[in-house]
Amino acid sequence: MEVEHQAYDMEKISNYINGALKEPISGKYLDNYNPAKGEVYSQIPDSGPEDVEKAANAATAAFDKWATTPVAERSSIMLKIADLIDENIENLALAESIDNGKPLSLAQLVDIPRASSNFRFFATAILHFSSEAHISDQDAINYTLRRPIGAVGCISPWNLPLYLFTWKICPALAAGNCVVAKPSEITPMTAFLLSKLCMEAGLPPGVLNIVHGLGNKVGQAIVEHKDIKAISFTGGTETGKRIAAVAAPMFKKLSLELGGKNPNIVFNDCDFEEALSTSMRSSFSNQGQICLCGSRIFIQNDLYDRFKKGMVEKTKALKIGDPLTNGTQIGAIVSEDHMNKVLSYIDLAKKEGGSIIAGGNRIQITGLNGYFIEPTIIEGLPYHCRTNQEEIFGPVITLIPFENEEEVIEMANSTPYGLSATVWTENLKRAHRVAALLESGIVWVNCWLFRDLRTPFGGMKQSGVGREGGLEALRFFTEAKNVCIKQ
Ligand code: NDP
Repeated sequence: MEVEHQAYDMEKISNYINGALKEPISGKYLDNYNPAKGEVYSQIPDSGPEDVEKAANAATAAFDKWATTPVAERSSIMLKIADLIDENIENLALAESIDNGKPLSLAQLVDIPRASSNFRFFATAILHFSSEAHISDQDAINYTLRRPIGAVGCISPWNLPLYLFTWKICPALAAGNCVVAKPSEITPMTAFLLSKLCMEAGLPPGVLNIVHGLGNKVGQAIVEHKDIKAISFTGGTETGKRIAAVAAPMFKKLSLELGGKNPNIVFNDCDFEEALSTSMRSSFSNQGQICLCGSRIFIQNDLYDRFKKGMVEKTKALKIGDPLTNGTQIGAIVSEDHMNKVLSYIDLAKKEGGSIIAGGNRIQITGLNGYFIEPTIIEGLPYHCRTNQEEIFGPVITLIPFENEEEVIEMANSTPYGLSATVWTENLKRAHRVAALLESGIVWVNCWLFRDLRTPFGGMKQSGVGREGGLEALRFFTEAKNVCIKQ
């Protein structure tokens, strides 16, 4: 079945400030591209510091009331928004697919349901959020008060637009903060549609403000704003460094979820079929543009040829095409710039001596003029070359053979990153041993992207600072205060 491409053509996006849809103060707009067609399909506010100022003022003014609104009431408004997301899943998924290039089926099955889950999860988690008390013998009792921070900033990337946008704003709102948020300028549509649902759900004005525009204007202004007291950022490591440099002298609370170069380690004793089929997903889902994708596959020597053969066969059979067509498994890369970056890494891999054993090229899809790259497998590269050390963030993986645990742990830990890792083995002792030694914020054993929203989420080394998820996120978005009372 073909879905009409025109559904969101030329919709003009607005900022959402103080409960109303607003034009940017400059009156200027940027083009928003449909990456599958390679053409402009909507306009985004080219906002600036003056729009962030209005949003920060609205958030600051709304804070006292929202922070003291009974928790059950805050929770119930958030649950209403979750319901509205579910009711509008088809429209939201279509918008996400057109804006990002991801298969519509992925947006329907993962991105949009996860956005409503984020609202539902944090709306209920806050009802159970408690703090500790300590009795100091007979002398005193200490307890911890956790108060919302005030106006906070949430900045999110383009790869899982509504999913990651809501992953940030939901704990912030549930904890009683007011938010100034910026979605990626490359994929702003679903955050815009969400602002309309927030109005429909009766979210009070100023509690959530969404300012669209460029990272180095709007994002920078959010980070620099004196009244925005905490920043939760997901994006590239270089942007994270710039944000940290601005935020540190202002002593802002900072949570950074950054890039990755994740190892996927396949031992001889794995469940072969499961390791193979899940490795296909962890390599190429969302065109490989998920920070948790396993881009370096380490395969133990005895299994190497068989596993490689299986990966190559399955990769060549993947259906690349129009994201809106049923059955498409690989859609478009998010933008022309990003496609060129990914292609430049394929060239680099060749220069470094790698062999391309599947894919390797940009391809044209009939009737579309978009940014498509074949899922690509490379072998024959040393683990320390640039292709195996730098984040590519596209449908490109490398295969690397290994002899034993010691060797693979050294290779897996050799990059500056430490976000996630996957281990395939039926040996329980080995699973525990390897999981403990990997420098990684998340280790999946015999699975991938299995997410329980209560667990801590984040990276080590240059993959980030702090943890999100469950209580960690609620703790980040609150200030702890120790109260000590003499008995
Ligand atoms: P970027 O770092 O380019 O951008 C992320 C967000 O920051 C965007 O909204 C961007 O705006 C904004 N931004 C850019 N410059 C600044 C600035 N100077 N100050 C404040 N904000 C700014 O990342 P991408 O959007 O390209 O996303 C891909 C990256 O995100 C990959 O490295 C990926 O690994 C990482 N990522 C990490 C995840 C994790 O959980 N660890 C999850 C998902 C992705 P604009 O788009 O307008 O430039």
